[in-house]
Amino acid sequence: MGHRRIPDRGMDKERLFKMLESYRGGDVDWHSGKVFGYVYDAGPEVERVCKEAYTMFLSENGLDPTVYPSQLFLENDVVAMAASHLKGGEKAVGSFTSGGTESIILAVKCARDYARATRPEVKEPEMVLPTTAHAAFHKAAALLGMKPVMVPVDTVSFKASPAAMEKAITDSAILLVGSAPSYAHGVVDPITELGAIAGRHNLLLHVDACIGGFLLPYFREAGVSVPDFDFRVPGVTSISMDFHKYAYTAKGASVVLYRDKELRKHQFFVCSTWPGYSVVNPTLQSSKTVGPLAATWAVLNFIGNDGYLAMARELAHAAHRLIDGIGRIDGLYVLGKPEMTLVAFGSDTVNVFCVADEMKLRGWYVQVQLAFSEGKENLHLTLAPSSVKMVDALLNDLAQCVKRAREVKSTGLSQMIRERFGALDPSRIDADLFRQVSAMAGIKDNRLPDRMAEVNEILNSLPSEMCDLVLIEFFNNLFVPTQDSVATASRR
Ligand SMILES: *Cc1c(COP(=O)(O)O)cnc(C)c1O
Repeated sequence: MGHRRIPDRGMDKERLFKMLESYRGGDVDWHSGKVFGYVYDAGPEVERVCKEAYTMFLSENGLDPTVYPSQLFLENDVVAMAASHLKGGEKAVGSFTSGGTESIILAVKCARDYARATRPEVKEPEMVLPTTAHAAFHKAAALLGMKPVMVPVDTVSFKASPAAMEKAITDSAILLVGSAPSYAHGVVDPITELGAIAGRHNLLLHVDACIGGFLLPYFREAGVSVPDFDFRVPGVTSISMDFHKYAYTAKGASVVLYRDKELRKHQFFVCSTWPGYSVVNPTLQSSKTVGPLAATWAVLNFIGNDGYLAMARELAHAAHRLIDGIGRIDGLYVLGKPEMTLVAFGSDTVNVFCVADEMKLRGWYVQVQLAFSEGKENLHLTLAPSSVKMVDALLNDLAQCVKRAREVKSTGLSQMIRERFGALDPSRIDADLFRQVSAMAGIKDNRLPDRMAEVNEILNSLPSEMCDLVLIEFFNNLFVPTQDSVATASRR
């Protein structure tokens, strides 16, 4: 017993790859087109180009562009395409990053250090966020010692409320945030109004266009009405945009753009006070593979404007059918007016967590979203090109699943959870309490049950601080090193 060790002798290559393949057995089958989240599949041809370019640059190190001019060229070329796509103007610059979260952390770090340089009197910098802003802003705030000021959104449109945002600005505010669109509801915040507010108060404005920045310009070209959100809007100072979503490139690909170099320099980290090589890091990582950058460069060039536009037309058409179709299913309603390819829907008559379980039994992946300050629990779909052909099948099954969910009687679990834990001090959460909650949810030995409705219902009913603690406890138990006995068994 004890931790599994490095094998005494090297393993046969064929056997090893068989093992790797077998480990994928339990994953969602993303090639099926039935997975409405996590994957942005544009078909096998794009996938091949992406993988080839990725592996070609897998071993190059993006640590030092003076040693690898190829990386410097590829990054400048990719950032240029991104900046022109979002109408950045002559002076726009940016950095290629590993994902939306990194792009956002960097934009926040840049804002913080810009404020340190220009407004040293601000001791505890704040960023003003609509409640629908992505969790990455909270992560950035936690890492960078900033205070997130959460502002309620409109309860019908789920868009940021400019008046409420302006009211929340204090002398310590340094940054405003808007989304284009928000992940949860797929609606574009009123960026033009937020830009005017940023201008009046002399604040930076970051537009989180991680998921929409790439696709929205094509939607507009395809005739869909899209609110202004890019650098043409006065007041916008930085934008994040992911390539690993609707640019269909490898995971680990995003960009953060700034209106000019003067602002971006506050994003950099340098260190020449240690005895090794001078560290100059534009982004968070130091040594890093050039694979995702090469893959992005290759896929952008391979698909091209005409290819992206053609896919956008199909997506726009299918998204319309999807949103319209969900609205017609008895018992369901769409939240807000989705403006892209993301749709959230809820119900006042059936338990949506049961609907998600029923859908899973039929091979669909739909994402659960818990209640937040301005809305109750709901389900979320992300439409990717490979799922366009599945929209009608999804709508059919969804209608059936809603019927099935009607037959499920309420267990009164939420009520019980609220009574039992609602008034409890979150600091009193410990392993023992976690065991109680787990038992109620049907979790045994940290293994999730097949049906997730109870688990979701409990998470949804717990106060959010407590929900966070329960999730940490669960995942802390999930990531435990393989034990030797298990490793031996799986090798056989
Ligand atoms: C996906 C997403 C992010 C975070 O991106 P990751 O690539 O998962 O780190 C941030 N904001 C929005 C709106 C997103 O959709």
